[in-house]
Amino acid sequence: MLAAMRRVETKRELRAALAMNAQKGVRRRVLVPTMGALHAGHAALLRQAREIAGDDGIVVASVFLNPTQFNSAGDLASYPRTPDDDTSLCETCGVDILFMPDAAEMYMPDRSMNVEETQLSRVLCGASRPGHFAGVCLVVSKLFNMVQPTDAIFGKKDYQQLVILRRMVRDLDFPIQLHGAPIVREPDGLAISSRNVRLSSQQRAEAPGLYAALNKARKAYLEGASAGEVCAEVRREMETLSEVRVDYVQMVHPDNLQEIGGGEKGVQPALLAAAVYFGDVRLIDNIEIFAE
Ligand code: AMP
Repeated sequence: MLAAMRRVETKRELRAALAMNAQKGVRRRVLVPTMGALHAGHAALLRQAREIAGDDGIVVASVFLNPTQFNSAGDLASYPRTPDDDTSLCETCGVDILFMPDAAEMYMPDRSMNVEETQLSRVLCGASRPGHFAGVCLVVSKLFNMVQPTDAIFGKKDYQQLVILRRMVRDLDFPIQLHGAPIVREPDGLAISSRNVRLSSQQRAEAPGLYAALNKARKAYLEGASAGEVCAEVRREMETLSEVRVDYVQMVHPDNLQEIGGGEKGVQPALLAAAVYFGDVRLIDNIEIFAE
């Protein structure tokens, strides 16, 4: 659609904006959920959405800092907020409707429903962030109901989130096609994240070491090292950095997140995923290893 972007803050305004587009015979409705502080990674998702929507479809972006997916009050409080820049970026990327609700608009004070995935959310990030993926599933299912998109896009940076949302769509019969977008990186390899701005200059200088270690591990695995060996090597390399604490380094199956045994060699496809604290900033990254 070529009309000016509409920014709405309430569900009622969102419904009205969607109804207007429906009258124009819109075909695809592509949703990109975000928590704001938008950067080049989000911009890539929005541009992909624009392509999928085409000329006769619409792109809906949401910016909502979802409190139910934070398991640390400090992390929520320190999360960057840049609503004006977010609005400009959405306009530049061809968004038709930007939905920017506040927490009171999204959640009733006596809310008592949850949407919980019970297997895939127990491992990797779910093991150290209890309740996180239930918060994600809750907010995304609400957005799906409000927007009723034909398509939705999520980044592979949050690979586990994408896998869990695919399961949610399958198991709860949401008639929505999900798309996984490739990870967008800084020129030095660091996966772009809203949390990167919280790194000190020394941590920022060391942070690309995570992707470098994952890349080296991928190569070693393809050359015959075992899953356990390459994970141990990534852990060792990260632990040589200052102020670093490794949360996990694991090789899993990319569809069901089941761990590939430490002694296994050459099992593919595989996903090598890691979470590392630089001081109190938790960074995640991953690399896919597919059969040639
Ligand atoms: P967030 O605002 O962190 O909730 O992210 C919103 C969406 O953008 C999620 O689907 C993320 O996976 C995706 N995303 C965030 N950073 C990146 C990145 N560097 N590359 C690709 N996708 C990203």
